[in-house]
Amino acid sequence: MLTPWVHIIGAGVSGLSLAVALAQRGSLPGEVLISDPYLDQDRSQTFCFWYKETERELLKPERSWSQWSFSTTGSTSTPLSHLHIGEKYQYGMVSGDSFRRRSLKLLKSHPQVRFSKERVTHRDQGPHVFDSRPLHRDSYYIQQSFVGFELRCQHDYPLNRVALMEEMTHDFGGLRFKYVLPLSEDKLLIEYTVFTIEKLSLDDLEAFGQEALEQESLGDWVIERVERAHIPMGIKQSTEMSHLGIPIGTRAGMARDSTGYGFVEMHKWAQEAANTLIDRNAALRFNTPRIRSWMDSCLLKLIEHRPELTPELFMTLATKLSGDRFASFMMSCHLSDASQMMLVSPKRPFIMAALGKTEWI
Ligand SMILES: Cc1cc2nc3c(=O)[nH]c(=O)nc-3n(C[C@H](O)[C@H](O)[C@H](O)COP(=O)(O)OP(=O)(O)OC[C@H]3O[C@@H](n4cnc5c(N)ncnc54)[C@H](O)[C@@H]3O)c2cc1C
Repeated sequence: MLTPWVHIIGAGVSGLSLAVALAQRGSLPGEVLISDPYLDQDRSQTFCFWYKETERELLKPERSWSQWSFSTTGSTSTPLSHLHIGEKYQYGMVSGDSFRRRSLKLLKSHPQVRFSKERVTHRDQGPHVFDSRPLHRDSYYIQQSFVGFELRCQHDYPLNRVALMEEMTHDFGGLRFKYVLPLSEDKLLIEYTVFTIEKLSLDDLEAFGQEALEQESLGDWVIERVERAHIPMGIKQSTEMSHLGIPIGTRAGMARDSTGYGFVEMHKWAQEAANTLIDRNAALRFNTPRIRSWMDSCLLKLIEHRPELTPELFMTLATKLSGDRFASFMMSCHLSDASQMMLVSPKRPFIMAALGKTEWI
């Protein structure tokens, strides 16, 4: 068989985004091969992100909300709750299954795209090889553990508002909060999320979530789907990495260290990488912007060493940033977002975290 022009290892978000961006350009300089042993497996995932109207075509949100809220459980000196209203930004959602189905439909109709259900273990000799195999869970600094319940129920949540970080508190040795997506008048996705250093048992978190659901002021409800997972945050510096090609996706640091969000970054990189491949026959590497790495590493250190301070810290940031600035910080973290964030953030925790002196905060 001929060596492919582009070999993409892994048909997840980054691999499929790159393949789609290539296929959308029409006729290609050579064949694209996508390898994944779990190609046909549906995955119960929901991808959320902030987006601007100009990004709608690229990201194809299925649902959108214009407001997002924060609250703490009350033991802090900051306000107990705050609401962001997005003017340029909206919060959007894409279901993992529809993203996969849509991508695979387009790719299967392209005459130069081929699939292989193989587990790739060795580097091949193709001109451009991209590796998106996930790293081992132990390679990550912080675990974001969540259990989400999709409920059929009567509820009072406004349909234009996401409860983004509600009831933030120090629990399970880390930061715990509730996240609620009102999907329709009679459908809610409620997730209980915890950021911790230690691995948290998802069974324990699910048991906690079941009890917490009983306390919600909802009418009769039925659980239609449960989604639970660990989302990695921040690759440890000591991680040994042997890539089988140019690293992409989470393996390349495209998922944000301090939040786990990566869907938008992967799509944007894929567009640029496809253009570079087609126009210059060159492969584009992803480099995490320095300012973003620095800000994220400070936040991770605070979560690691002083989790009890994080509800107040996130609340302070939420109240002092506008909705659009917060969304822009979460998605791109340009210099202007980072400077604004530094201006409003409590100085001592950040400076001490940056110096590695978290015990002095
Ligand atoms: C549960 C969860 C929820 C998330 N939610 C969000 C969200 O709401 N918003 C957001 O922006 N980001 C989110 N993320 C972060 C990030 O966007 C996703 O993790 C995204 O799927 C990462 O894309 P990826 O291409 O790096 O890896 P994946 O999408 O995990 O793809 C990797 C692929 O590699 C394949 N593979 C593994 N081993 C091999 C091998 N040896 N050979 C060939 N193929 C192999 C796997 O089968 C898989 O299909 C979430 C992450 C998780 C885990």
